[in-house]
Formats: sequence, structure tokens, C-alpha cells
Amino acid sequence: MKGNPELLRQLNERRIFNTIRLKGPISRVALQRQTNLTLPTVSRAVETLLEHGWVRSIGVADSSGGRPPEMLEICAGGAGAIGVEIGRQEARVVYVNLVAEVEAETSIDIHELDGPNHLIAYLQNFIETYGVDKSRILGVGVAAPGTVDAPGGRILYPSDLPEAWHGAEIVQQIGNGLHLQAWIENDANAAALGETWFGKGLDKRHSIFILADAGVGAGVVIDGKIYSGSNSTTGEFSHTIVDIHGETCICGRRGCLNTAVSIYNIDRAIRAGRSRADGESFDTVIANAKRQLNPDADVLHRFFEYLSVGISNLVQVLDPGMVILGGRMLLADSFMTDSVIMGVREICGDGHFEILPTSFGMNAVAVGAATLVLQSLFDHTQLVAHP
Ligand SMILES: [Zn+2]
Repeated sequence: MKGNPELLRQLNERRIFNTIRLKGPISRVALQRQTNLTLPTVSRAVETLLEHGWVRSIGVADSSGGRPPEMLEICAGGAGAIGVEIGRQEARVVYVNLVAEVEAETSIDIHELDGPNHLIAYLQNFIETYGVDKSRILGVGVAAPGTVDAPGGRILYPSDLPEAWHGAEIVQQIGNGLHLQAWIENDANAAALGETWFGKGLDKRHSIFILADAGVGAGVVIDGKIYSGSNSTTGEFSHTIVDIHGETCICGRRGCLNTAVSIYNIDRAIRAGRSRADGESFDTVIANAKRQLNPDADVLHRFFEYLSVGISNLVQVLDPGMVILGGRMLLADSFMTDSVIMGVREICGDGHFEILPTSFGMNAVAVGAATLVLQSLFDHTQLVAHP
């Protein structure tokens, strides 16, 4: 590290910025104590952060003798990031400030966006429509379903997404089209990251995000970082086997979670038991299940059973501090989240982890995508991992 003063400066600056975020308002002396850096190092980093407008002084604190210290806090509006969820049904775009509060948001039917080039025009329009100061935008994070090549900046096999997205080199295209740095990640992974850095996981370094949209995915964050595995297939939670004698899944194996929890299989199971109009909403299924009407009640009961077993298996292996529930199916009604929480608690018992709905509602994935950008300001360990 001695041979690279620029890297060392960046490391220190991120540590100090993150400490101000978590502990502010805080004085320079307290920052020095928290980080074990020298006071000149702290002062230099603080000057840079003040110049950027990412940190501000809120005056002096009461003195306990000696010169009263100037107190510093994060200036949330000083900069921000764009987060994009490329979903199977819609694309959702948010602009968040430095503490991941949503300042502007919009969404569009995914079929109205004809691939990445159209997305770039849509983002340009979003920036202009909401009057987002482009000089304050630090980058664009994109989250997509299925397998993504995060280091290569590409969407790989987004099942159920229109053809135009397959293999899209989205990071490079955003860079060229908007002149902004971009990141990409799997949707559930991004949501887990957002929760760990800015949501209910603030003090939980290990978390699992269960994202139930058309299918069910799981994102894993370990020690504040996305766990991608060797082949970026950690999101394939829906093809974990929870019933070895179960139905044959589309993947060819038996008893995958997917056979009970994907929206297609739920739809199919209900149609087998009663007539169901095209376009009948998932809310109707929930309403019927709540009134104990079959087949809806049985179908959702199976959903809860399978998903609870799947989540419990993850908890057993990974020992997370927190399990967060999100996505359109789970957030459709508190009946859904409550039932899953009860199911997991029945298997795992109480105590050693929290399980609760996301802090960000339907924006969880988009905020998670924006967190890819914000993490690059606060996470000094990223510099060590990828110098
Ligand atoms: Zn399967």
C-alpha cells in the first residue's frame, strides 16, 4: 500500500465518508478516533468532501473545555445516483440522493422499451422531466432478472425479457449514450445490497433478499458485498429442490421451489381447480385464499410451504442476520409476507435472525441498483478487492 499514495488517499476518503454517513454529526477529532487515522489525513479528506458538497458543516458543538469542535454531517442532496430495474413486467427508474432516499421515480411497461437504446433515451427524458441536475449524477446502476455478467457489464440470459435485452452490453451503452459510469447486477442481489447499505440491514452485514415477482429469486450479501458465486448463478433460488418426490419442473428436475411459487405455476394450478378469466389479478387469488376458498387457498398454502422450506434452507446454510422479503407477489398483501414469516419461524424458530418486508417497497430493486453506484463512494474494501 505504501507504494500507492493515490489508492491510500481514496481508501481513507471512503472510510471517512462512510463514518460521517453512519455517525454524523461528528467532529474531525471524533472521526480520527473512529478511524484510527491521523488528524491531518482526516482533515484533508474532509476538505475534499466539503469541496464536492457531499459533506457539510452544521456549526460548532458545545465545548467540554477548549475550542468547540465543528460538526460534520453528510449532505444527502449533494449528489445522487440513478437506479434502473429491468423487470419482466415493467422498467422502474429512480433517482436517489447520497443516503438512497428516492427523489424522483417513474416506471414504464417493459414491452414499450425496445431494448437498451430506447432505455437510454428514456433515462435522458427522465433526467430532463424531473429536473435532475446532471452534474450531481454519479452514475447509473442497472438490475436485471436472471444471469448477468457484472464484471463484463452485460445482461446474459434474462428469461422472459424481450429479445432486444439478451446479451445487451448495457454498461458500455449507457457510458456512450449518457456519459455516465454504469454498473449492472442481478435484481435480487441488487435489492439485498440496497437493504444492507441503506435499509433495515444497516447493522446487518450478512443478508438474504427474497424477491418474488414472476418467479422467485434470492440475493445474498455477505459482509456488505454481493455474493456472486463462481458462475453468477446464485439467483437460481427457484430451482433449489424442496420436495424430492415433487412435480417435474421446467428444468427437468423434480420438486423445485419453482413448481409451487412461480406465477405461471400458481396460475396453472388455479385453472386446474376453477375457471379463471384472463387478466384476473393475483389480488383475487389472495382474496379467495383469505376466505379459505379453494383451489386458491390450497395453491397459496403450497406456495407458503415451499417458499418457507426454501428460505429456511438458505438460513440454515448461510446464517444471515436478516432475511428481507420483496417483489410484487410478496408485497401484494401483508397476508403474503405474514404467512411466509410464520412459515419460516415454524421451521427455524425465533431469535438468531430477523425476517421482515423490504424498507423500499416496490422500489427495492431500483434502489438496490442505485446502491451499486453509491457503494463505490462508501466501501473502501472494494478498492482492496478490485484495485
Ligand atoms: Zn427447476
